[in-house]
Amino acid sequence: MNPRFLAALLLTPLSAAIAAPGDAARAAKTEAWTPVPPVVSAPEGGIPSDAIVLFDGRNADAWEPVSPGSKGWKVADGVLTVVPHSGYLRTKASFGDIQLHVEFREPAIVKGNGQGRGNSGVFFMGLYELQILDSYRNPTYVNGQAASIYKEYAPLVNASRPPGEWQAYDAVFVAPRFGKDGVLISPARATVFHNGVLVLYDVKLTGPTLWIGVPHYAPHAARLPLELQEHGDAVSFRRIWVRELKGLGD
Ligand code: MG
Repeated sequence: MNPRFLAALLLTPLSAAIAAPGDAARAAKTEAWTPVPPVVSAPEGGIPSDAIVLFDGRNADAWEPVSPGSKGWKVADGVLTVVPHSGYLRTKASFGDIQLHVEFREPAIVKGNGQGRGNSGVFFMGLYELQILDSYRNPTYVNGQAASIYKEYAPLVNASRPPGEWQAYDAVFVAPRFGKDGVLISPARATVFHNGVLVLYDVKLTGPTLWIGVPHYAPHAARLPLELQEHGDAVSFRRIWVRELKGLGD
C-alpha cells in the first residue's frame, strides 16, 4: 500500500469512515441483537448472582462426607478445614460443565515435604483432580504440584503463595462426553487460573485421576458431585462457588 495513503487512512476518524451513504445499512448486516446475554451482577470481590454457593463461611450444608460414618470436616471462624482421616467431602448436588472459584489456605506451620505438605485437591465430578498442595519452595514431581491436573498436566507456572496465606483457583471445567455406546466423544477439558495467573489452558484430560497407572476413560454420568480431598493435611477453605455453564463442549 502507498505509505501516504496508509497514513491518510490511519488518520481518518472512524465516524468519518462510516459516514458515506449506505454505510450504516451495510454495517448493520453484521450486527447481532439476539439472543441477549442474561444479566449477571458481579459485585467487586463478591459472588456472581448466578453462582451456586458451596461454602461462604457459615456452614458446610452443601457438602456430605464420602466415607460412611465420618463426621466430616470442621467449620470455625468462617473457615472449613480438613480433619485428617475423616475422608473426602462431596457436594450433595451434581455438576457437569462449571466455572469454579475456590479459596484455600495451606497450614502456616509447615510439616512434611513433597506430596506430604498441605495436600488436598478439588475433584471435578469426583474423578478429575486439580491438585492442592503447598508448592511454595517445595519440590515434587511437576505434574503433581499445586495447580496441576494430577499426574496429567503440570501448571505453566508456579503461582503459589507462602503457607498461611489465602490463595484461589478459578477454573473452567468441561465434562467429557460419551456416546450412547459408551465411546468417548470428547475428553474432559480444563482451564485454570491460580491466584489470577493462567496455569492451565484448555488441557484435554486423558482420563480420571490415578495415583498409579495410566489414566483411561470409562463412561460415566453427565453430572456428578464435586469432591474435596482429605489427604491427612489440615488445609482450609474459605469461599467456594460454581457457575453452571451451558453450551460448552457440545
Ligand atoms: Mg491431592
